[in-house]
Amino acid sequence: MNEALFQFIWQHSLYKVTNLHTVDGEPLTIMHSGRLNRDAGPDFLEAKIKVGNTILVGNIELHIKSSDWLKHGHQNDAAYQHLILHVVYENDVANVAGNTPVLVLKPGVTHELINKYAVLMQSPQPLPCAGQHTKVREITKEGWLSRLLAERWEQKLGDWNVLLENAAEDWRNLLYWRMAANFGFKTNATPFLLLAQSLPLNLPVKQREHLDQIEALLFGQAGMLEGDFTDEYPRLLQKEYDYLRKKYNLTPIPGHLWKFLRMRPANFPTIRIAQFAALIHKSVHLFSQIIETHSVKEIAPLLDVTASSYWDTHFQFDVAQKEATPKSLGKTSIQNIIINTIAPIQFLYAAKQGTSDLQEKALQLLEAVPAEKNNITTMWAENGWKAASAAQSQALIQLYNNYCGSKRCLECTVGLNILKAV
Ligand code: SF4
Repeated sequence: MNEALFQFIWQHSLYKVTNLHTVDGEPLTIMHSGRLNRDAGPDFLEAKIKVGNTILVGNIELHIKSSDWLKHGHQNDAAYQHLILHVVYENDVANVAGNTPVLVLKPGVTHELINKYAVLMQSPQPLPCAGQHTKVREITKEGWLSRLLAERWEQKLGDWNVLLENAAEDWRNLLYWRMAANFGFKTNATPFLLLAQSLPLNLPVKQREHLDQIEALLFGQAGMLEGDFTDEYPRLLQKEYDYLRKKYNLTPIPGHLWKFLRMRPANFPTIRIAQFAALIHKSVHLFSQIIETHSVKEIAPLLDVTASSYWDTHFQFDVAQKEATPKSLGKTSIQNIIINTIAPIQFLYAAKQGTSDLQEKALQLLEAVPAEKNNITTMWAENGWKAASAAQSQALIQLYNNYCGSKRCLECTVGLNILKAV
């Protein structure tokens, strides 16, 4: 038994609730367990109980051992002078809380529940409840996934709000920054974001008609046009960039920030930058198009871009490939951008406008995208929980990263249902 588990048992009434008595032998009914208090003061607030024939409303304190009352110094603390109940697992010292009625909970808690909790906490598996969550009802799990997705977006969009403020509430800028970070995918998200932030959007947009100038600006600001090149194309970009850099007083980011190691060449930042340049070249009013479009069928073509022809035969400057292959963004990357940039920005925009139907449409967009395949979703699938859509795969990623990994099973609906089923 530990404090977190004891509070959990009390909060969810996971003890034998009938025929309760205080240590003084008074009949006790718990009408409302109270609201868990995570701040200073008693553990549960605004509880309602009946002791004998008297109904009491107020706060409740929990301790594993009654002597903890003294250890924690509650006898000298005014916040603990008017409790309606002191709930203890073991009553090792009598009358520590003066006249406050005392309930000893140990006889009402099953060993099975404590053992199940111990199994979850001691499991060395990455998914401690593997083999058990399949017993939880589908509808319960689906509801939990919806809440996890909301939690994931709340965390993510909190950061985006800060970016939006930095962008002086200019949504086109927010889209430009977030889209750039997304083009960096996991490994190069940070340098890609720094690149976009170092290059005001209006500059590449001004050169929209000229793909080579957009590339010159992006590769130059990425710090990738320094040094001597053999191929004519990078030399041309270098020349263009030198001119534009002086004209607009630009400072590139350090080139060493980009990571190429252990990446598939198709994901090299050079290819992604060239594709990002192609997106800017192709797009007119991208933000309004994205905000107004709510079907994958219509959004996907907006993002379907291919790097310029130099990249058909290269993954890096001056390193030629034997066979030419056009470097298109690809279906999976487009889906990734819909999941990580388009749907969240639509949701945030709708939230700021106060249009809940559009927020709902942003969520539905995720439901229309296939589930992501990565280590986490594969692990869930192998353990009997297969995501039906990107909305569910995002929620399962949130569950694994924020709950399972740190064993927050007591805060998880699956954990609650596993422990409840005793
Ligand atoms: S946090 Fe929930 S889903 Fe994860 S291992 Fe614990 S009970 Fe299972």
